[in-house]
Amino acid sequence: MTTPHVPPPESEILGKPGTQRITGKLLATQGYVVGIEISGSSTRQSVALADLDGNIIHHVRRSLDAVPQTQKVLELLDEMLAEVMHPERLQGGRVLRVGVAIGGLVDATRGIVRTLHHARGWDNFPLQDYFAEKLETPCIIDNNANAAALAEVQRGAGVGERIVLYVALGRGIGGALLVNGRVYHGVTCTAGEIGHVLVNPGGPVCSCGGYGHLEALASSQAITGAMAEIAREYPETEAAIRRVTGNRAEHLIAQQVFQLAAEGDGIAQRIIEQLHLYLGVALANIVHLVNPSMIILGGPVAQAGEALVAPLQARIQQLCLPPAYQSLRIVQGSLGTRANLIGAVTLALQDL
Ligand SMILES: [Zn+2]
Repeated sequence: MTTPHVPPPESEILGKPGTQRITGKLLATQGYVVGIEISGSSTRQSVALADLDGNIIHHVRRSLDAVPQTQKVLELLDEMLAEVMHPERLQGGRVLRVGVAIGGLVDATRGIVRTLHHARGWDNFPLQDYFAEKLETPCIIDNNANAAALAEVQRGAGVGERIVLYVALGRGIGGALLVNGRVYHGVTCTAGEIGHVLVNPGGPVCSCGGYGHLEALASSQAITGAMAEIAREYPETEAAIRRVTGNRAEHLIAQQVFQLAAEGDGIAQRIIEQLHLYLGVALANIVHLVNPSMIILGGPVAQAGEALVAPLQARIQQLCLPPAYQSLRIVQGSLGTRANLIGAVTLALQDL
C-alpha cells in the first residue's frame, strides 16, 4: 500500500524561491515507476510497481518452462503488467517510466536486446520501443548486471563508492563497471561482460560458444555440474549430495556445494577452491586495469556469503600488486536475490 497523497500547504506551492522544485515534487508524489526483470534463461520473470523513492509497493514473479518463445515471455509480462499497473493500485497517479533489466547482451543506447545466450528469439529485439508503445510510457532498458550494480551503488552495499566492479554470479556470470555512480557501457555496450573473460584456455564450452570463459567454470551450473560429475566416482560424496538435496541430486544448487565443503567433503572443497581460483584470476586482471574501490558480489552464488568472499579476498590479494589491492574492498551485495528487480526500478528512476 502507498500512503495517500497529501498536498503541501499552499504557501509551499506558491512560495518564492524554489517554487519550481516544489511544484516538481508535487507532480512526482503522484507518480510511480515500473521495473521489469527478464531473466537470461527466460524461465523467471518479475514485475514491480514502485514509488518515486524506489520503494516497491507491489511485485509479482512468474516462471515459465525452460527456454520458451519470445512471444510467450511477452504475453506473460503483459498479464503481469496488467496486474501490477491496475488502476486501483495507482490511486489516481500514473506510471512515469518503465525500467527493464535483461539477462543478456543489451544495446542500451539503442534500446535493443542483442541476444540472450540461454534463450532463443530475442536477437536484435527492439524491447525499449515495444514497452514504450505498449504502455505509452518512456522506457529504459539495460543488462541486468548493469541495473543491479546501479541499485547496489545507489541504495545497497556500494553507496558512496567511486569505482565499483559488480559481479553477478548465477546460472550465467554478468558484470558491470560503475564510475562515479554511472554505468560504464563501453563503445558497443559490452563493458563489464566478465563472464566471457578467458581464464582457462582449452577449458569447457561457454554459453556464448567460446571455451574456458569464466562463466563456463564459475557459474552455478558449472559448480553443480562439476560436483555431480566428479561425485560419480566417490560414493561418499554422492551420498552426501543425496542427503542435502533430499534425494533429488539433480536439483543440487551451488549453496549446497558450499555447505558440503564446510562439512568437510573433499570433492566439494576442491570445487570451491577452483571457483576461488578462476574468479580470483579474472577479478585480479580487472583490478589491475580499472583500480576499483569496491568489488560487489551478487547473484545466487554470492548468497554463500563469507564462504565465498573471504577466500576470494585472500586470492585476489595474492594475485594483485599491493597498491592495486590496498584500497580495495570485496563485499557481498546487500540487495540479495532481488538486486535485478530493484535494479530495474532504479533504472526507471534515472534522471527522473
Ligand atoms: Zn563465453
